[in-house]
Amino acid sequence: MFNKKDFFVTLKIRKKNKLKLFYNLSLIMTYLIIGAIYILLVLFFTYLSYFRDIGILKGFLYNLFFTPIIGGIIVLLSYKTDSPIHIVTVYRCSRCHFEFTQNEEFCPFCEKDGEKIRLKRKSMEVI
Ligand SMILES: [Zn+2]
Repeated sequence: MFNKKDFFVTLKIRKKNKLKLFYNLSLIMTYLIIGAIYILLVLFFTYLSYFRDIGILKGFLYNLFFTPIIGGIIVLLSYKTDSPIHIVTVYRCSRCHFEFTQNEEFCPFCEKDGEKIRLKRKSMEVI
C-alpha cells in the first residue's frame, strides 16, 4: 500500500543523505586542495634553494618536514649564490690527502715514494 506520509519521510532522508555526501565530498576536496598547495609550496622553495648555499636536497627536506613556512624562511635566509651548487666526485689519497678529479688505481705521488695507496671516492658540493 502506498502511503503519502512514508513517501515524504523517504524523500527527507534521501535529501539528508545527499547533503551528507556533499559535505564529505567538499571536506575531501578541501584536504586535496590544501595538500596540493603544500606540495606546490615545497616545490617552489626547493627551486629557490637551488640558487642558495643551502642546496637543493637540504632545501627540499626542510620544507617537507618543517612545513613550507619554516622551510621557506630557512631557504630565504640562506646565502644566495650566483651559480647553482654542483656535486663533484673526487678521488682522495688517504696518505698524502691529495685530491684527484680522475680515478686512478693508486695515488701517483705516493707511488713515487714506493707506497701503493688506493684512492677513495668522495662526493662534495662545489659552488
Ligand atoms: Zn698519496
